[in-house]
This record gives sequence, structure tokens and C-alpha cells, in this order.
Amino acid sequence: MCSMKSVSKTVPLVLATTNMHKIREYRTMLKSIPGLDVLTLLDFQNYQPPEETGATFEENAILKATHAAGAFKHWVIADDSGLTVPALNGSPGVLSARFAGKDATDADNRKKLLSSMKHLLDDDRYAYYDCCIALASPQGTVKKSVRGTCEGKILVAERGGGGFGYDPLFVKHEYSKSFAELEESVKNRISHRRKAFDKILGSLESLLSQNYSDSCTT
Ligand code: IMP
Repeated sequence: MCSMKSVSKTVPLVLATTNMHKIREYRTMLKSIPGLDVLTLLDFQNYQPPEETGATFEENAILKATHAAGAFKHWVIADDSGLTVPALNGSPGVLSARFAGKDATDADNRKKLLSSMKHLLDDDRYAYYDCCIALASPQGTVKKSVRGTCEGKILVAERGGGGFGYDPLFVKHEYSKSFAELEESVKNRISHRRKAFDKILGSLESLLSQNYSDSCTT
């Protein structure tokens, strides 16, 4: 059984997300590893992801990656990410997607962020994005987890129509345009997600050179 798999030309890799924006950014970055057959949770309609109960981005990324790998018996990467504002005691942090409530939209979350920060002047508008990526093996165990950050500040009003989440409010240090005003290719080169991805790239490339034994379940 295993030797049949070892002649396979591609290795399946599941991106454990349904977030179309994350999928788009990862698909662009993963183009550099053409041997990976990239799937997403959109390919597994009946899958129920775990509750994100972790206290940190890393804990949530590991939770999402190991849960999906155990279910699919494939290599999986999961991303947990968000925005931290030290002047708001670290909010929205791990609750970035749910800052304005359980079913909040990105627009709801941005509105809440702006109103929470309306009393804050320049220096206190410092913020950073975090991205943790966890890689889990087909046996459901975590093999690696990495972190990338991107520092900047929060604007007083939205600018730009690109990106997602808090991008219309976030300007990276040494840039003048918000993440939503920058070309997608520029965001992809300088973002927290890119920084984390660069740290896990070698592990993903090495999936292609293994004899695939990690994925043999029989
Ligand atoms: P997660 O899906 O639980 O990791 O939540 C990620 C949330 O963090 C998103 O819903 C956004 O609100 C925010 N976020 C993460 N990465 C980005 C980004 O690159 N741009 C803008 N917002 C982001």
C-alpha cells in the first residue's frame, strides 16, 4: 500500500480554513511548491471544525491543524491570526474574528475597533498583526508551529477596498498606504502571514522529498 503511495506525483496538503481571503493568500504563496496538491475545508463539506478555545494564536492554530489532520489523514496547515492593540490591553487578539460578537462581520469588527480607539492619539494607536501557522501530520500530531508579526498603526478612518478583516484600518510601519490600499502582491510580500509562511516553507518542501511513510495508515 505504501509503495503505491510513494510513486504519487503530488502530496495532498489541506489548508484548514474556509476563509476565502486566507485561501487566496496561501494559494499564491504555495505556488512556489507545485508538488503540493492544495485542498481546503471547502473540499470537505461535512467537516465540523473544533471550537477555538485556545488562549493564544499558537494554541488555536495547533488545535485546528491537529483536529483536521486526524479527520482527513492528510498533512494539514492551519493559520490562526489576528490584530493586537496594546493600548486596548491586547484586544481584539485571539478574538479578532469575533470582536463585535459571535456572528460579527469584518465591517462590524472594524467599527467596534474604531469606536474603542476614538480617544487614543498617535502613539497609542500602535498595533500589530500576528499569524501562527501549525503543520500537522496525517496521524494528527503537530510537527511544527511558527509565528510571523507585522507592526504598524490603526488609522482613524477606513482607507482602501482590498484585503480583508482589519486591513482598511492598518498601516504597516514605514508605509503610507493601508493594507487595503496596497496591491495584493505587496501585502503578500510584507505581511505577518508571509513572515510565518517563510518559516514553514522548508518543512512544506520537505514533504515532497519524504517517502510519504507518514501518510501510510495501513
Ligand atoms: P481566525 O480565522 O480565527 O484566524 O481569525 C482571523 C481574524 O483576524 C480575521 O477574521 C480578521 O479579523 C483578522 N485577521 C487575520 N489576518 C488578517 C489580515 O491579514 N488582514 C486583516 N485582518 C486579519
